[in-house]
Formats: sequence, structure tokens, C-alpha cells
Amino acid sequence: QEELTRKSQAMDKNDTSDLRKFSRQAYLQKRRDKKIEEIRDEIVDHQYIFQDVKLTEAEEKELRYKMRIYDLVKEHVESADDAGEYKMPEAYDMGENVNQEKRFSVAMQRYKDPEVKDKMNPFAEQEAWEEHQIGKSKLQFGSKDTKRSSDDYQYVFEDSIEFVKSSIIEGTQPEDDSDQEGIDAKAILKRELQDERKTLPIYKFRDELLKAVEEYQVIVIVGETGSGKTTQIPQYLHEAGYTAKGKVACTQPRRVAAMSVAARVSQEMGVKLGHEVGYSIRFEDCTSEKTIIKYMTDGMLLREFLGEPDLASYSVVMVDEAHERTLSTDILFGLVKDISRFRPDLKLLISSATLDAEKFSDYFDSAPIFKIPGRRYPVEIHYTKAPEADYIDAAIVTVLQIHVTQPPGDILVFLTGQEEIETVDEILKHRTRGLGTKISELIICPIYANLPTELQAKIFEATPEGARKVVLATNIAETSLTIDGIKYVIDPGFCKIKSYNPRTGMESLLINPISKASANQRAGRSGRTGPGKCFRLYTSYNYMHDLEDNTVPEIQRTNLANVVLTLKSLGIHDLVNFDFMDPPPSEALLKALELLFALSALNSRGELTKTGRRMAEFPLDPMLSKMIVASEKYKCSDEVISIASMLSIGNSIFYRPKDKQVHADNARLNFHTGNVGDHIALLNVYNSWKETDYSTQWCYENYIQMTIVHTLLDVASIDEWSISPSLMSRMTFLMVRSMKRARDIRDQLEGLMERVEIEICSNAIDLDAIKKAITSGFFHHSGRLQRDGTYKTVKNPQTVHIHPSSGLAEIRPRWVVYHELVLTTKEFMRQVTELKPEWLVEIAPHYYQLKD
Ligand code: ADP
Ligand code: MG
Repeated sequence: QEELTRKSQAMDKNDTSDLRKFSRQAYLQKRRDKKIEEIRDEIVDHQYIFQDVKLTEAEEKELRYKMRIYDLVKEHVESADDAGEYKMPEAYDMGENVNQEKRFSVAMQRYKDPEVKDKMNPFAEQEAWEEHQIGKSKLQFGSKDTKRSSDDYQYVFEDSIEFVKSSIIEGTQPEDDSDQEGIDAKAILKRELQDERKTLPIYKFRDELLKAVEEYQVIVIVGETGSGKTTQIPQYLHEAGYTAKGKVACTQPRRVAAMSVAARVSQEMGVKLGHEVGYSIRFEDCTSEKTIIKYMTDGMLLREFLGEPDLASYSVVMVDEAHERTLSTDILFGLVKDISRFRPDLKLLISSATLDAEKFSDYFDSAPIFKIPGRRYPVEIHYTKAPEADYIDAAIVTVLQIHVTQPPGDILVFLTGQEEIETVDEILKHRTRGLGTKISELIICPIYANLPTELQAKIFEATPEGARKVVLATNIAETSLTIDGIKYVIDPGFCKIKSYNPRTGMESLLINPISKASANQRAGRSGRTGPGKCFRLYTSYNYMHDLEDNTVPEIQRTNLANVVLTLKSLGIHDLVNFDFMDPPPSEALLKALELLFALSALNSRGELTKTGRRMAEFPLDPMLSKMIVASEKYKCSDEVISIASMLSIGNSIFYRPKDKQVHADNARLNFHTGNVGDHIALLNVYNSWKETDYSTQWCYENYIQMTIVHTLLDVASIDEWSISPSLMSRMTFLMVRSMKRARDIRDQLEGLMERVEIEICSNAIDLDAIKKAITSGFFHHSGRLQRDGTYKTVKNPQTVHIHPSSGLAEIRPRWVVYHELVLTTKEFMRQVTELKPEWLVEIAPHYYQLKD
């Protein structure tokens, strides 16, 4: 190995233009190095500020691995394309006149041949690692007829995953469905939208449904995803005249779903989005006076109770996707059940995709269940033969494998979040780029919350003939959104789940295995327009033994402070006896009450105080709301709402490229001048950006990077100084948008300040005042320096560290207040500001007493 390295170094000094002088291995090595550099460049170009991508050894390997096949394939195909006639470098020339494809495959074989490979590969160790990755699984799909096509796959891509077909989920199709069989996206497009509406399974039940709504106040509606519940029912209600008496609300657990469905319905009704049909999500209200059908997140409807406790302006409330059992949905259940008693004219629809309808019906005093028979074709389930270590990689390989070996039909891949989606998007693009006509076109459609609406629409577009669409989605595609034409589902078996430890008060978003119910729902997505296949990237043993039957409702695994504050401000005092469908753990409830009491939102009798009432107006975490409310006292509300909006968009880091460290450091130090702490630094960033009239260029010049860290950490639980470049590169375009978002949020907070009658006043000079306001909200989050240089949290003592991205990481003040704790490689405090211990006693005397 050493010798090879020496050799190649020696060759580096040679004239690189003449490749023929080089031995094959040196040539390949060069190419790879160059490739890696190209990728780096590409990443850098793509995002401009990531000039420096520091690769760890593992990342370097990863990168090389991912590029290897791409590299080989691309080289062969491209040189053929360019020259018109295929010309090989000397090392590749096999001295016989074989056609291009044959050569290609022979070259591939040679490369695969261990002897040849060993000779030509100076990175034997890396190769072994790669081999290990690939060797985890090498076979074909379970069905027999794919054997040949699987060879095709091997021919184009080297890696593959072995699946075993294990079971078939039988389909259910209403008998009279023959005329609708095989509706393909194309045919649908041709019809008028109105005709299209009539093809949905729900259409046949329109009148029956309307009759039921007339007859009963509360109805539980169950129907297969895609049957038309979300888009059609509100329209039916409108057509039947319900909107004459009030608005129709339809809640969604996810922002994207609310937006996308509203867009669709406004299209179907031929009105402008935001007029008759609109949506409302946190920090974004796209409705008007005219709005009669309002799609909204469940959290937003919850907030509407604050202004309108009987929801007087609504005639119908449809709690959609009830099976998701989000925290807000669960609370809504209790509230709407309550108001339905004194508002007999209010119609209540609880709609859900899965079949736990009995539970909903029981809860709503035996409400009738309305079942919409969906069409569902049989779905073949394939499991991997062995567990996959890297599900991202496995998902990519499976996509390509399906693409090359399986008949037409779109692919849906379930990933856990935006970052994963972007990573897979990028890698798929890399791996298919330059393959030309070797494979048919693969249209990659990512969908996640931050994706611009125009791009979101792309996933619904019909796939052109000869091409295949691959939709990369989160759980949203499990039930909230239906994409027609999906025939293959890839289910890695994971989703992001919020979990909360009431003892420490720590909340974290972690990647968890999904439940069996989810897995089956996912599989079902492939059998909507014809028989489908689901590829589970886990074994049937995993499915049987490792997956829970159902997902635990969010209310049982989350921080309840926000909800308790909302309920209290709605006048609901007896939380223990609140009509929860599944009650939260009492420990979590107590913890929430304790926190609200400490923040003086509640008095000692558990009643809402004036401070609490004001806090409830802000759609923010109670600690942030408290910080804002406290800014009145310290006369620095202007600064504090800027800080709050900066904290609300995620986290910021000041990026530090290797070749521009000095510049970056200077830029960064500017914001941190005087070791003001991270909160004030955020404020400085915001204010300076404002001074440049919100300039994009300015953001780039100042090495400011927004949101990346937060979202990445959510997903990967890794330290951001060691994230892989491919993940990083995908995040950057969000930067300016995040700053813009901070500005939007700030505008709204300013509006809310008026509502709670807090004057906006600026006190930029007295930083202590600002810090005291911060401490008023975050005094629980205080830490004290220990002799060994670590910190101990003051309450619930726990060893923590200042996050390396903090401006105070080196300074290490004796006392600090932090925004949040994140668990990555260690417990880190993020967004840290220095604190004077006497403030704790001054601000929260009931919580802290002077001891030493
Ligand atoms: P359900 O709520 O029962 O799951 P939906 O009402 O969401 O069903 O979907 C009904 C149909 O409308 C589906 O076939 C879906 O493809 C289509 N659809 C929903 N949203 C959109 C959209 N934004 N663009 C295009 N088609 C959509
Ligand atoms: Mg729906």
C-alpha cells in the first residue's frame, strides 16, 4: 500500500495531460481524487459559502463509495457520447473490436474481478469497506420473472439489495368498480377537474353522506387514503349550503398538507387560493373575508378557540387525519366534543384513514361510523434478507434497482425529513446523471414543508410516457397526501418522532422505527391504481418482533406546557379530569404546571395570571412567550422580539471556511463583539441585515448560515461540526429564506404585541436589560461552570457543555442561560448567554434561593 502511494505521488509530479504514461491504478486514483474534488466544487458552487468541506475519514470513504459506480459508468458512457465513437484510454483497451456496451460490461467485470481490482486499487482497505457495504446483500427481487432484468440492473449499477417476497396484502375492490379500473394519471388529466371529482370513491356516497350529516351532529368517517375525504367533503358541504351558515374548517396535522390540499380545492372550485378557499398555518394566514372553506393545521384551530371559544363563525368542523393523534388533534377532540353540547347546530366530522374508528365513535358518545369503501389492489410485500445498516443507501439502491428491473409505475420512498430527502435527491441525481439512454428518465420529486409551493405541485403532475417518477416524501405521504400512479413503495421503516423526558424536561426529535400500522398504511400506498409492490428495507423478523402495533399518541410523549397554557386560557382548569381520549402521563402534566407556575403564568392556585394570559397570545413556546412579555418590564421589546424570531427559525451558525478563516472569524466576531453572548449576536445579525435593507448578498458576505444545524440535528443526532458535506450542501438555499422568515415572524410578533398592549420600545444600549428579559423566560435553563470546565444545570443537575458553535464556547462564563439542550455526542447547551447569578434570585425568587 505504501509503495503504491509513493508511486502515485511520484506520478503526480509527471505531466498529467498524458494519461498513457500512467499505469491504470494511478490513472484511476487520479480520476477519483479529481472526482471527489469536483464534487466538492460542485457542492461549493451550489451553495457558495461552503468553500471548505472538511471530510472525516468515514465521510471521505462514503463519498468515494457513492461516486465509484457513478464514476465508472459515467466515464464510459460519456466518452462514447462525446466522441460519437467510443474511444478508450489505453488502460481500458482490450484490443478487440467489441461493441461499446460489451466493452462497458467487460470493464465492469474487470473492475469487479478481485484480482484485477487489487492490482489496480491503491485503496484496498477502502475497497474492502465498500465491498462490505455492497456485499451485505447481493441478489435479485423475489419474483421469478425479474431474474433477467435484475441482470440488467447489475449491468448498469453494481450494487443491489436482496429482497424476499413474503406476503401479499389482499386488495379490496368494490364490484362496480370496473369502469374505473386502471385510471391512469394521463386519462385523468384529460377529463375536466369536475369529472375527475366524480371518479373518486367518495363520490358515490355523496348524497348518503350529506344525509348523515343532516341527521347526526357528529359522524366518524373512515376511508382509504385517496378516497377523497379531505378534498371532497368540504366541497360537498359547501354545495349543500353549510357555508351559508358559517365556515367549514378542515384540520390537518401537517402544514404542507393544509397548503397543498387548499391549493387543490381552490383549483377544483375555480377560485383563487385565499379567497373562498384558504389555509391557515402558524405564521402564515392565507384566508380572507371571503373564505368559506378553510384548511388549517390542528394547532391553528386550537388557537382559534382563544379568540372564539364557541367557534361561532364555523358551521362545520372536520377534524381530518384523526388517526394521526397529534397533540393538537387530541386536545381538539376534547374541545369540540365540549362545544358540540351547547352548539347543536355545529356539525362535527372526525375523519380517519385507518380502522380504529370504534375508538373515535366510543369517545364521541357512539357517533355513527360512515365507511367509504376504497379501492385497493393487492400489494406484494418484499423484505430484505438481512438488515440494512444504512437505510438511506439501501433506499437509493432499491430505487435504481426498481427503475432498471421493474415494469412502469412510480416509486414512493418514505424518508424521515427534509435533509434525508435532499440527500437522496442529490445522490440519485448524481447516480443517474450521464447515463443517457442507458436507463429511462427518472423524475425525482421531493416533497417537504419548506419546499416552495410551485415545486410541491410537481409531485402531482402526470408522469410522461417512458419516464418514471420517484417521490421522496416524509410520513406526509402515508395518509395526508395521495399521489396517483404509485406502484412501488420503499419503506425504510423509520420516521421522526418527538419524545419528551418529563424528568429532565428534555424534548428531542429522534428517528424511530415506525409501527406495524404505519408500515401497512405505507404499503397500501402502492396499491391504489393497480397491484403494487412494497419493498421494506428491513426483515420480516424485524417487522414481526421489533415494530410496535401502533404509534403512541403524541400527547403521551411530549412537553405539555404549551397545551396546558392554552387550556388554562380557555378556562379549563381541571386538567386531570379533562376529557382526554388517552390521558397524558400525570408526571408530564405536573411538570407543565410547575413550569407555568415558575414562569408566573399561573398563580399558586393554578389560575391563569395576567402574564399567563398575555403569554397565551403568542404562538410560541411558553418560555419564549415569557421572555417577550418580560421585555415590557425591561423596556427592550424591540430587541427581544427580534431575538425571539431569530430563535424561532432554527439555529444559526457562523460558518468558517478553511481558506477564509480570518474573514469568517472577523465577520463572526463583529456580531459577538464584547462577548455579548449568542442571543445578542443573533440580534446583531438581524439588525445588521435590516440595515442593509435585508440584503441577500450581505448574508453571504458575513458567513451566516441559518437553519442548517437545527434541522440536521433533528434528523441525525449528530454534531454539526461533523456532518457530511452532502447533507450540508442541501441546506443552504434555505438561508435567505430563513432570514426572510425571521422577518415575517417578527412582523407578526409585532402585531401580537399590540394585542397584548406591550409597547415596542428599543433599548439597544442596555444589554443587561435584554439579558434579564431572556433570563425571565429561560431561568430554568441556567448552568454553572464546574472546575473541570463542564457545566452543571442548576435545576435537575446534569453535566452539560457549551456547544462549539457558541460565541462563548471559549470564554466559558461562570454562569450561563441557554436556549436549549441538545443531545448529540454530548449534552450541549445551544444559544448561550452570560448571566449574573443574582438575576436568578431577582427574577425567579420562588424558584431560586441564594445558597452560596
Ligand atoms: P383522502 O383525504 O381521502 O385521502 P384526498 O381528498 O386527499 O383523499 O385526495 C383525493 C384525490 O385528490 C387523490 O386522488 C389525489 O391524487 C387528488 N389530490 C389531492 N390533492 C391534490 C393536489 N394538490 N394536486 C392534485 N391532486 C390532488
Ligand atoms: Mg386526507
